[in-house]
Amino acid sequence: MNKKELTHTGWQLENSYSRLPEVFYRKITVHPVKSPKLVIFNEALAEKLGLDSAEITAEDGVAILAGNQIPEGSTPIAQAYAGHQFGNFTMLGDGRALLIGEQLTPSGKRLDIQLKGSGRTPYSRGGDGRAALRPMLREYLISEAMHGLGIPTTRSLSVVETGEMVRRETALPGAVMTRIADSHLRVGTFQYAARFGTKEDLKALADYALERHFPHVQDASHPYLALFQEVIKQQAALLAKWQLVGFIHGVMNTDNMAISGETIDYGPCAFMDSYDPKTVFSSIDVQGRYAYGNQPMIAGWNLARFAESLLPLLHDTPEEAVNMAQEELTSYVEQFQNHWLSGMRKKLGIFNEEAEDSTLVEALLNLMHQHDADYTNLFRALTFTKLQGSELFETPEFKEWRSSWQARLERQEESQEESQQLMLNNNPAIIPRNHRVEEALAAAEFQGDYSVLHRLLTVLADPYAHSAEQEAYTEPPEPTNGPYQTFCGT
Ligand code: AMP
Ligand code: MG
Repeated sequence: MNKKELTHTGWQLENSYSRLPEVFYRKITVHPVKSPKLVIFNEALAEKLGLDSAEITAEDGVAILAGNQIPEGSTPIAQAYAGHQFGNFTMLGDGRALLIGEQLTPSGKRLDIQLKGSGRTPYSRGGDGRAALRPMLREYLISEAMHGLGIPTTRSLSVVETGEMVRRETALPGAVMTRIADSHLRVGTFQYAARFGTKEDLKALADYALERHFPHVQDASHPYLALFQEVIKQQAALLAKWQLVGFIHGVMNTDNMAISGETIDYGPCAFMDSYDPKTVFSSIDVQGRYAYGNQPMIAGWNLARFAESLLPLLHDTPEEAVNMAQEELTSYVEQFQNHWLSGMRKKLGIFNEEAEDSTLVEALLNLMHQHDADYTNLFRALTFTKLQGSELFETPEFKEWRSSWQARLERQEESQEESQQLMLNNNPAIIPRNHRVEEALAAAEFQGDYSVLHRLLTVLADPYAHSAEQEAYTEPPEPTNGPYQTFCGT
């Protein structure tokens, strides 16, 4: 591959991360795969990145997406990080990913380009460094659906089948996914620095995070406290967004929480059907640690671990540093509550604030829980005032709730039409329903038929469109014998 061809593809790569102290990464060599075949590609995203789709999807371009070739200007690295997995501290790191570099986009952004499933690294421990096709397609689909829902997330540029099998419980087709992120700095990266690095290393990492994500507070009187405050701000907003659409991450370990405030590391995630705060899909989450209703609290727990790693930078006196951190953590709870309640008001068509609003919302959620109402469809039914599809609507308790809601709407200045528009913009018509996700992935994996997946991606790209073609995708799953289960994407 000559240089001229490469520049045509549009890669404009840098690697500012590798200017951090060496403890933070290892340079790695690539592990070419047998016969790369591009199976899905995100043209709209490629355009935003400044990449030439035609060139990238040609043989030489795909060689890069497969990890067989390294583009001009790239020094591939694996990042070091640690993390609490289900509450237990462990050394981790990119065990099956490599960072090609940071793409400088036409609009002036700096975005990480990471290959996932690209082979063994010094952090692979016992793993093979590879990924199976289906979980990579799943991450592609769900992350793009999250983007459609307006939720900050890493994005997916492509999935390439490797032509090699990976050995899990059975032999499965292997794949490499290209993931795009504001960065891959994790709470776990800071935990790693605090545990295994020097104070200078930690400071270098914090300065890097400030420069990359929060340049507006770099000159604050206490930049590291400001860093903590900014990360809290992002997580409070993110968690509210997850809760409002019924998204369950499934594995909120501290290594899976990004400093940028993007949703990251889609493994056993899934969307809730009927409303139940205890909903868990992940097969390994037997205790329900990462259940839907626990997520905001767990994010707070993760932020406390982030604070612990920042303590040496917060204050020279440990007690003082802890006090500062604790004060900020209290503010996380408040910020989350405010975002969540303001989102719920929008879902119910409410513009202004009244003290009793949270009681009104809680009452509805309790009724939904008692009557196994489908979370997405119930809000949508309220949006259209077509009160069908749930036995809840026939109950006297609901009728009473509805009267207080109607009365609440009448107490605001905005018209009914304005309320309805607000609800349409805040209650998605569709979410990636588990049975639809599985159907699309099965067609791709077993028949090589990507049309089902493409159709699903199309309707999920604009979930607030409430279009006729989305209607078929709004059906909740048929009741099954057992609960839907998801598995970690290894
Ligand atoms: P995840 O469940 O994707 O968040 O991964 C947790 C940790 O396990 C990370 O350090 C991964 O790099 C590592 N890991 C997951 N799968 C593999 C694999 N197949 N080979 C090596 N490391 C892996
Ligand atoms: Mg992870």
